[in-house]
Amino acid sequence: METKCSFCEKHNEESSIEIINRPICKFCFTNQIEKRIRKNIRVNRFFSKNDDILIIMNNTNGSFTTKYIMEQVEQKMPIKLSFKDSFTSEDLSNFDIIIASQNTDDEIDTFINQISELNLINEIKNNDEIKKRNHIISVIDNVSEQECFLFNTFKELDTVKVTKHELDDFDKPYPETKFSTNKSIKKIKSIILK
Ligand SMILES: [Zn+2]
Repeated sequence: METKCSFCEKHNEESSIEIINRPICKFCFTNQIEKRIRKNIRVNRFFSKNDDILIIMNNTNGSFTTKYIMEQVEQKMPIKLSFKDSFTSEDLSNFDIIIASQNTDDEIDTFINQISELNLINEIKNNDEIKKRNHIISVIDNVSEQECFLFNTFKELDTVKVTKHELDDFDKPYPETKFSTNKSIKKIKSIILK
């Protein structure tokens, strides 16, 4: 028997995705991800009219997802998009916003690396990139690497192979582990940077 998508209740050959522990079809999955990213943009008020925005295209699933989403935003709001594979210190003053396409997995990895540098507080305080977070943002930091990959696949965008994350095993018995870890990291950073 074919499984029905638990969101739209239709039979669908893609309904077997178990990423959120419920069957979901291609259409509902990409809708959910787009909604989540748009909410991130709205809540954080990342963009203003006429912003000059640089998107870093570093050949990651996150950067392909970000490009797709930002081209949607561009159709509804007067912003100017540019694309480069990396950014320089000059770009920091030339652009209003730089989008670095860090997904949930990337955010956790960056933080874990900083912890392992021993002196966490100084490391974070001295990290220019984090200091300039109001300038360098990510619209997809609430989306996992695996989700970016599936989103890109379903939308027929570019993809690269997904590398396994250390927290993937915890996500099975305890779903949302990665997202709640990332939320805690954001809280810790905001306390340290006060
Ligand atoms: Zn559906």
